[in-house]
Amino acid sequence: MPVTSEKELEKLIDLTESERRWKEDGKNTLPLLISDHMASMLSIPAIRKQFVPDALENTDTDGTMDPLLEEKHENESRLIHRYHNRVAFLVTDRCFSYCRHCFRRRFTGTLTGPATGEEIEKAAVYVENHREVKEILLTGGDMFTLSDERLDHLLSTFKAHAPSGILRFCTRAVAVCPERFTDSLFSIIRKNQTGAPFYLMTQFNHPAELTEDAVRAVNGFLDLGIPAMNQTVLLRGVNDDADTLIELCNRLLYNRIKPYYLFQGDLVRGTQHLRVPVEKGLEIEKKMRTELSGLGMPQYTIDLPDGGGKVILTENHLIGKEGREYIFTTPEGDTRRYPDPLN
Ligand SMILES: *Cc1c(COP(=O)(O)O)cnc(C)c1O
Ligand code: SF4
Repeated sequence: MPVTSEKELEKLIDLTESERRWKEDGKNTLPLLISDHMASMLSIPAIRKQFVPDALENTDTDGTMDPLLEEKHENESRLIHRYHNRVAFLVTDRCFSYCRHCFRRRFTGTLTGPATGEEIEKAAVYVENHREVKEILLTGGDMFTLSDERLDHLLSTFKAHAPSGILRFCTRAVAVCPERFTDSLFSIIRKNQTGAPFYLMTQFNHPAELTEDAVRAVNGFLDLGIPAMNQTVLLRGVNDDADTLIELCNRLLYNRIKPYYLFQGDLVRGTQHLRVPVEKGLEIEKKMRTELSGLGMPQYTIDLPDGGGKVILTENHLIGKEGREYIFTTPEGDTRRYPDPLN
């Protein structure tokens, strides 16, 4: 049974004073929920930090509830249209485990429940009527908390209205609840594989999460020809050192999961103690870039506060221009000049 109370948690690990007091003033809205699979790994500090609530969540001085201004861009119920050519649909608020760093705390675990048939229909029609939308992110919450029947309905509704829209399955479930990925689930996915392709978007934050079971769950998608991409959140005390992330990315790549993004923590209330200074993030990015192949290297990205959108963070190598020559620094710190063509 998943862990939902301090009492059950206390049977597995000795809680610190701060972990015990996480709910003290009723401000903390993200429930405690840890799947069996994750509960069995709580002796690993990087896992514990991500799933065991802590009173530090109530001391955030910078965070806000909706730093990406998603509510402002909600054009239909649960449908966020922030970027011109892609939309995010909040399938459900539920997850198999609640990550303490969750950036959608205003919504996740609020008992809103799965989208209704009408909400799904309206979102699909919206995409149908907005031809500029090429991709639909199915997110939440975690879409795979839905029953097989509801998933079938969700996928077939989008396929009926927007057959040329690429559907991204954004899920942490392959990592936290691999047993969800049954043959009957995959047969529903296979049945809906018409028109535009599906993409699997995973969230692995630490090498320990790449268990045999998790890899098997991802393989179920790969075997159907569905490419897998990973989004990692940079987290203090979890993965904020280059060697851990290099190992993670190499192992992802080995398992045919392309490292896609490394996210700087969003300014979401309750997550300050898990955020990493940008300067440190840039140092980590630099070391990763020297040791990983281009294929293994994710893009270090910050989603700017007040709905500023995603921008990529990396060392700047273009440092100036003289006449028609651009001046670059090499990764080793030398200078090189590159002229624009004469005409
Ligand atoms: C991040 C995000 C996307 C997807 O952006 P990509 O850079 O294409 O991965 C789409 N919609 C919203 C609201 C997002 O936050
Ligand atoms: S799985 Fe995703 S949506 Fe759910 S709590 Fe974790 S980060 Fe938030």
